Amino acid sequence: MKIPEILNNSKKTLFSFELLPPLKGGSIKDIYKTIDPLMEFNPPYINVTYHQEELVLKKRANGLLEQKTVRKRPGTVAIAAAIKNKYKVELVPHLICGGFTKEETENALIDLNFLGINNILALRGDIQSGQKSFIKEESGHGHAMGLVKQIVELNKGKYLDEELFNKQATNFSIGIAGYPEKHPEAPNMEMDIYYLKKKIEAGAEFIVTQMFFDNKKYIDFVKLCKQNDINIPIIPGIKPISTLKQLNILPRIFSIDIPSELTSEIIKAKNKEHIREIGIEWAINQSKELKKANVPVIHYYTMGKSLNIQKIVTKVF
Ligand code: FAD
Repeated sequence: MKIPEILNNSKKTLFSFELLPPLKGGSIKDIYKTIDPLMEFNPPYINVTYHQEELVLKKRANGLLEQKTVRKRPGTVAIAAAIKNKYKVELVPHLICGGFTKEETENALIDLNFLGINNILALRGDIQSGQKSFIKEESGHGHAMGLVKQIVELNKGKYLDEELFNKQATNFSIGIAGYPEKHPEAPNMEMDIYYLKKKIEAGAEFIVTQMFFDNKKYIDFVKLCKQNDINIPIIPGIKPISTLKQLNILPRIFSIDIPSELTSEIIKAKNKEHIREIGIEWAINQSKELKKANVPVIHYYTMGKSLNIQKIVTKVF
């Protein structure tokens, strides 16, 4: 089932979460261990992130450094198919522009279509580690908008090679990312909303937000979207803080604010376990408030760990 249908058919706030493929060498069993404790809360769908290749320096036998590109977390499409088969839930694999030519994108979409997957979160992708800005493939997309348009074309049965015989249309529902505190590269919120709207006009049907720690940021973002005639579901993304380091890392990576009340509680924490408890309690309060505000779904960023998410959803759902 497509995400907009799932949301339309539900009168209450739903629960969903996002998984990362394990680091290369890891096992699908690690993924199942993350999912199992969360299945009793009936997530109607699960997201699986996509990670492009990274530039890494490897030491050669002669001591010199060699630059290599390595995909550290492969397997998004296969993991999505394995989860769908085992748990009978809908899957929302992420598809990114980074590292993909248009042809490779088309082939990935064909794979997903054959696997019976009907939802995609279409993203530009993070800037490759070791690079200062996003670099697109020569014949790839530089923005999520291009990817949205390509999926829409395939949904009409339009493949890159117009001479193909017996072309079948795909049937994907497309989600996109939204940023309550503005995308880090956008010059201002107005421009960010302008491009968000363009992606919706191109065919996107739902938005999943970047994580935020102050619900007012999300509420204001939803209001701003409405004022700009953006009327598709806006799914809030929540992540519990779990380490002291994240107080610096999360704002730096995602350009988000962490409320001073939360930072001062964390700084005063007795130990690591206490920090985790504070993060969980904060996410519980955020979730309860969002549920009261009748958001369609609360989407949790697991970062590969489900225990803290389990503690939150036990109190919220
Ligand atoms: P875009 O829509 O391309 O926007 C990027 C920037 O360009 C914005 O500032 C926007 O305002 C601007 N812009 C948009 N369109 C245009 C245009 N046509 N011309 C000029 N400017 C434009 N990253 C991963 O690598 N893998 C993942 O699995 C992943 N999952 C994510 C899930 C969620 C819910 C979110 C919120 C983010 C996720 N990301 C993931 C991170 C995401 O890829 C980055 O935030 C990336 O920097 C931007 O992606 P986007 O799809 O918003 O890009």
